[in-house]
Amino acid sequence: MNKSLPQVSCRLKKTILVKAYAKVNLFLAVLNKRKDNFHNLNTIFSRIDLADRITLKLIPDNEIKVICAHQSVPKDDSNLCFKAAKLLQQKCKCNCGVEIKIDKQIPVGAGLGGGSSDAAATLIGLNKLWKCNLSQKQLVNFAGKIGSDVAFFIYGLPFAQGLSRGEKVRKLPQLDKLRLCYILVVPKMHVSTPLIYRKFDEFLGLTKPGDNVKILNLALRKESNFDIKSFLFNSLEEVTTRIYPEVKLVKEKLADFGLKLILMSGSGPAVFGVVSSRKEAVALGKKLKKQKMPWQIFATRTI
Ligand code: ATP
Repeated sequence: MNKSLPQVSCRLKKTILVKAYAKVNLFLAVLNKRKDNFHNLNTIFSRIDLADRITLKLIPDNEIKVICAHQSVPKDDSNLCFKAAKLLQQKCKCNCGVEIKIDKQIPVGAGLGGGSSDAAATLIGLNKLWKCNLSQKQLVNFAGKIGSDVAFFIYGLPFAQGLSRGEKVRKLPQLDKLRLCYILVVPKMHVSTPLIYRKFDEFLGLTKPGDNVKILNLALRKESNFDIKSFLFNSLEEVTTRIYPEVKLVKEKLADFGLKLILMSGSGPAVFGVVSSRKEAVALGKKLKKQKMPWQIFATRTI
């Protein structure tokens, strides 16, 4: 136990609601496999306004309870919200309990970081509910122990760069003014991130980042006229598409509608297209829905 961490006492009856936003990756370069079997990444996260709602209710003793109506979300100690609460209890020597209710809006196993964002929202919310008084830096440190994308969501930033496994987060002040609108299309399938990385290694790193990181660095050096189309890239797209050809179909459909900036997010299968306004995203979504494909479609934007 770190001596600088406060100990928590638990008195008030209270409930806290926290929104857990999703993300898309505007850039995802898998650099190399590490000795611990994780991969070093260079990624650009974009937080979007599609969100789960996490309700945290103080309950007696130190019980942690997870409630969620979504059948693919675990309710036991493998839930990332459970892990976040347990970690906080242990690190802060806290005897409080919590009931965590997850209203799931973010598609599960889609490459949109839903579980990670739920965990970050739980850390942020419990820090208040249990009066742990942890700094953002301490929360970021805990986040890194739960999962690679959790730290990004602690910062509450619209954009950031993820390095190492993704848990080392760099702010991107040059993107402060950038606001993007997306049409987001999610085929109804659950993609396992570990499986995609395993296949990526098997196929000997199908899409090597090569010059893409150089191009990204060049783009990030610019302070104005930031041009995302120069660097949109995802190392995992080729692998996921080989296993789930529907991802390619989604990309082709969006291209048929005249979109130029189309990319898979994370390990997929979610695909996003950058559009010029929310209105355009909504209109495109309506057209796409008429085609009756088994896809979830969202008009979303940076938040
Ligand atoms: P990642 O790339 O980090 O695996 P993802 O966005 O592709 O993330 P998630 O929606 O986070 O996928 O779900 C991945 C797996 O995490 C699910 O299959 C589920 O079993 C598990 N999981 C644990 N906690 C949660 C949670 N709170 N919400 C959703 N899934 C969760």
